[in-house]
Amino acid sequence: MNLLTPNKTITDLDREIIWHPYTQMKTAGAPIAVASAKDALLTTESGEIFIDAISSWWVTLHGHANARIAERVYQQMLELEHVIFAGFTHEPAVELGRRLLTHLPKNQEKLFFTDNGSTAVEVGLKMAIQYFHNQGKKRTKIIAFQDAYHGDTFGAMSVGGSVFFQDAFGEYLFEVALLPVPVPGREAESLSQLEALIAQHPDDIAAFIFEPLVLGAGGMLMYEPEALDSLIGKCQENGILCIADEVMTGFGRTGKFFASDYLEHQPDIIAMSKGLTGGTLPMAITACSSQVYAAFHSDDKYKALYHGHSYTGNPVGCAAGLASMDIMEEEETWNRIAGIANHHANFAQHIRQHPRVKEVRQRGTIIAIELQTEESTTYFNSIRDQLNRYFIEQKVLLRPLGNVVYILPPYCITAEQLQRVYTVLEEAFNQLGNE
Ligand SMILES: *Cc1c(COP(=O)(O)O)cnc(C)c1O
Repeated sequence: MNLLTPNKTITDLDREIIWHPYTQMKTAGAPIAVASAKDALLTTESGEIFIDAISSWWVTLHGHANARIAERVYQQMLELEHVIFAGFTHEPAVELGRRLLTHLPKNQEKLFFTDNGSTAVEVGLKMAIQYFHNQGKKRTKIIAFQDAYHGDTFGAMSVGGSVFFQDAFGEYLFEVALLPVPVPGREAESLSQLEALIAQHPDDIAAFIFEPLVLGAGGMLMYEPEALDSLIGKCQENGILCIADEVMTGFGRTGKFFASDYLEHQPDIIAMSKGLTGGTLPMAITACSSQVYAAFHSDDKYKALYHGHSYTGNPVGCAAGLASMDIMEEEETWNRIAGIANHHANFAQHIRQHPRVKEVRQRGTIIAIELQTEESTTYFNSIRDQLNRYFIEQKVLLRPLGNVVYILPPYCITAEQLQRVYTVLEEAFNQLGNE
């Protein structure tokens, strides 16, 4: 490994200098050093093989080290690795945009590039707020869901639900009105609270932002398209812009290309990122309707959207996105997605009976199992630590959210690998509390 320190592992060297995300460095276990990966498998420095059952933080679509994406990226690197995206453009960005628009809801017409999910959300919020500002209207309030997660930059944190431990930053976040998530049984409550908000502030609400059908980090909470349709319909009747955060749900995760494809009422703005490059390179796009765009299209330069990042529209990211799009458009991929959904549905039937299980939720390739627990559903509870230890022992990459265990696999996972994940889950539930 490292010739200068032959007695130290990558993990040892990591611990000397690296600060990891979402990690209490003092108490966290040693990070596992991954040497290589292929399809749904990760190989560690010590030669152990893990099944990646969560697509490495929900990004990997077609498996790790995908040769078709790698080849396209390599060719693009030799051709044009990067160029400023203000005043300049390039074919990969235009082609990726044209391809995406064939899959996005029909009302989506313009695309703004950034480089991660949080910035895709920031741009969506800025579009919505400035949309009104540019028309001389003062609409400032934002509505979001109580358990929402939209990212870690300040704007994205502001629209996140209360569970996202932002104590240190509370005073710096702008105010947001929070609605209950319209999970089964709470649809009417969610809608009536929205109606009350609109009645209270008829001309002051700019936008409603939501994760369509599945709230990811909030605990894989799921709700029905009809419930979201009523909320969007009510907002749009009242001139409120609707922002769908499809950062996690996009690119087939929910069984359709976008979760918005389940809806009658289409969002005005859509944020995408995680699966955009097949999970290979950081890239994000915020799409909007021509109505939103028109409010910025002016002779007045102050009506422009003053936002951009150094790596905006990176051609290599676009090339990865195009290669991923080729794979997304193949029938084989949709067969795999449907296959995972089928396996999940069968497993759901079975595991629902387990005495430890409180609820099983599923949408497309995502299955979430909520466990019975005395404590509240917090990120920090002990069930999570117990489960985590077991999953690592059994060499399955899973990352429970409190008492919610979920599987969100790359589409290339095999039936045998998926079965192994189910078995490990069930064994873990059997062992809970026996330590
Ligand atoms: C992950 C996620 C984000 C943030 O994306 P990053 O790339 O981590 O900044 C935003 N919204 C949703 C729904 C997500 O799942």
